[in-house]
Amino acid sequence: MPNCIFCKIVLREIPSLIVAETDQVLVFKDINPKASIHDLIIPKKHISDIQSLSKQDGALMGEIILMAQQLARELSGSQSFRLVSNNGPAVQLVSHLHFHFLAGKNLPDF
Ligand code: AMP
Ligand code: ZN
Repeated sequence: MPNCIFCKIVLREIPSLIVAETDQVLVFKDINPKASIHDLIIPKKHISDIQSLSKQDGALMGEIILMAQQLARELSGSQSFRLVSNNGPAVQLVSHLHFHFLAGKNLPDF
């Protein structure tokens, strides 16, 4: 999707700190972290938000949740984390589906 910042990160057209990658999923560090660990888990293909998902995206969504599980396993300590997805123009700054993986110190309230 032209002009989508996360599509450009997938294509390495703009830099990011990549944490993990599969064929369909990319994980990179949030540029403005809200906790000591703040990663963004995204599908590589452009999907705007949860409302735009279809039945065929079920396996992809499963892969995203399993990626959160893998990131949690790699944490030291309690392996506690929060997974957040802002959806819709009132709360979502980047219109490419993403899940905030938040862990460690200074977890924000919600
Ligand atoms: P939201 O759409 O409200 O869920 O938030 C979008 C998130 O993307 C924010 O936490 C931003 O800090 C993050 N973000 C925006 N641009 C970049 C970037 N180039 N690299 C990494 N994270 C970004
Ligand atoms: Zn995109």
